[in-house]
Amino acid sequence: MSDLIVGRDLRNYLYNLMSSKYAKRRNQDILVHELAQCKKRGDFDAVKEQVAELRRWHPRLMIGELIHQGVFQALAKIYRDASVLIEREFVKEVEGYRVVGHPDVVVYEDGAPVKVIDIKYSTRRVERVDKVYTCQVALYKWLTEAKHASILFITPTDIIEVPIEVDLDVASHIKRWEHSFPLWGSEECEWCEYRHICGFSKKRDVQVELL
Ligand code: SF4
Repeated sequence: MSDLIVGRDLRNYLYNLMSSKYAKRRNQDILVHELAQCKKRGDFDAVKEQVAELRRWHPRLMIGELIHQGVFQALAKIYRDASVLIEREFVKEVEGYRVVGHPDVVVYEDGAPVKVIDIKYSTRRVERVDKVYTCQVALYKWLTEAKHASILFITPTDIIEVPIEVDLDVASHIKRWEHSFPLWGSEECEWCEYRHICGFSKKRDVQVELL
């Protein structure tokens, strides 16, 4: 035990945990997080696997994963007697794809799914919910057939649950996702690692204040 390096072991553990969540098993599988973002980014990830791997080593993502694990433990204790599924796999087929998702939390009452909850860690105050997040949660709502959906934001200044009552026409969404790059506009490209090599990258407008 003399060469025990806890930080390294923890990082390896979190990396493996995240990698197992993002693993695809069949060609026609689409993971929910892929369907909520620009398809080209997922295409780049598939051929430039090291970029996707590097992303998972980023401390911000690792802290997010640690927070998830802590919230899961707390919820399991708080709702000991209720029927709560944590990171369980849900699959539905649509438009020739198998949509696969692992929503953070699904709460059941009398055998029926009543609420799906996605946990998000943010270092910033929550002012608005990005389309990527709204879409992801709407997809989980569709996948689990839960009555309600929400995002539980964990930030340094707040713990806040935001209801996301959006019903998505998933077949139409997939058609748009297949052909719209970026999916949500120039802001998506601004944070994308592939913006300098992607032929579809959009630049945001910068306003010049008039004198
Ligand atoms: S740069 Fe924009 S269009 Fe290209 S992959 Fe990234 S998000 Fe998609």
